[in-house]
Amino acid sequence: MVQWERIKQDFPIFLSERNRNLTYLDSAATSQKPKSVIDAVTDFYQNYCSNVHRGIYSLSETATDMYEKSRENISGFIGSPSSDEIVFLRNTTEALNLLSYTLGRNLSAGDEVLISIMEHHSNIVPWQFLEEKGIKVIYTDITKEGKLDMEDFRRKITPRTKIVSITHVSNLLGTINPVREIGKMAHDNGSIFIVDGAQSVPHMKVNVQDIGCDFFAFSGHKMLGPSGIGVLYGKREMLHQMHPFLGGGEMIRTVSTFGSTWNDVPLKFEAGTPNIEGSIGLSAAVDYLNRVGMDEIRDHERDLIQYTLKMEDEYDIENLVSYGPRDPNAKDGVYSFNIGEIPPMDMDSQLMNNGLIIGSSVHPHDVSSSLDETDVAVRSGHHCAMPLNHRLGVVATSRASYYVYNTRNDVDRLFEQLERIRKVYN
Ligand code: PLP
Repeated sequence: MVQWERIKQDFPIFLSERNRNLTYLDSAATSQKPKSVIDAVTDFYQNYCSNVHRGIYSLSETATDMYEKSRENISGFIGSPSSDEIVFLRNTTEALNLLSYTLGRNLSAGDEVLISIMEHHSNIVPWQFLEEKGIKVIYTDITKEGKLDMEDFRRKITPRTKIVSITHVSNLLGTINPVREIGKMAHDNGSIFIVDGAQSVPHMKVNVQDIGCDFFAFSGHKMLGPSGIGVLYGKREMLHQMHPFLGGGEMIRTVSTFGSTWNDVPLKFEAGTPNIEGSIGLSAAVDYLNRVGMDEIRDHERDLIQYTLKMEDEYDIENLVSYGPRDPNAKDGVYSFNIGEIPPMDMDSQLMNNGLIIGSSVHPHDVSSSLDETDVAVRSGHHCAMPLNHRLGVVATSRASYYVYNTRNDVDRLFEQLERIRKVYN
């Protein structure tokens, strides 16, 4: 049995004088780091700092060994058949840009990339870059409950759809998308299937082979690891066929004045000195998550979201509106909400309210800064999902997002403070 109340002890940030009362509810933006991750990064700097794959001396060999062992550990964590299929990059954003650049080279005018309206900007903008080549980006809609509209998806996937790229979990709605089913439809259609796993890998057991995706992207900093390290999983034969993304050292086999040849995967996609300490820290994060247990983490967060929805009903805060599925089995630990009279949206006619929250409302930024006065940290804004905000008819929301170090006490604090804020702004 995991002692969830004790987990905070593993995270130095919660033990510092400054943060004694901190209720951190912004893990969807970035997570806090356990001591074991901080120690792993420090150990690299203090004991074997050197470059990888280059030096023929023992310090560099240790660094290379640790870097490649981290790749193996992370490969196992997501069920990748081989560590050669794990490319270290900066983050999910870089992984999706790599895919848009490299796969986009094989697309032509009239081809389509099918995404959804609930994507993070990093799974929208890189595909929009391709529009200048005459490639179309098509957006699958959501249902009234905030789930992916599978009927709409079926209508929009056509022989022109060359790529389907969908988020596993929405960072605003918390919706868990049926990626296996989507992947099967994509492959039956002959499309390449990409999953944005930035919000799933940290919170649930993920197996890329079970999902059946061709590519899967995620970020270390959202899963207890350091910033600046991210992962692209890709099927070996596809990575093998793809053109490199960035050019420079490490990614080449030969360079001459006549041209260059490429290194094997995954190094073909790792130009320049990589984030060595980041990958080692991420591997330590994976160890930590494995010790707690990914199924346990998913159950814990399901409990927190269920409890949140219960508190929402019990507190019955005037004009509080929340977004996304209400079924805790279809929702990850993300709770986005507004306090305000928001005009009912006509989902069928796609009527927007121009993003205005009218009537007696508290702007999400006021919610966030008022919560901050009592050391409750939530994020407010568009959460890098502007098209989804437009679809919901809002300019912004406040978002509480949970992780291993949160407990029901944090949810209680959130609602106590929301009740106070509602009164202050009346
Ligand atoms: N995709 C989703 C669903 C996200 O929530 C995020 C970050 O919030 C990203 C992609 C981008 O992650 P990063 O900023 O680490 O590249």
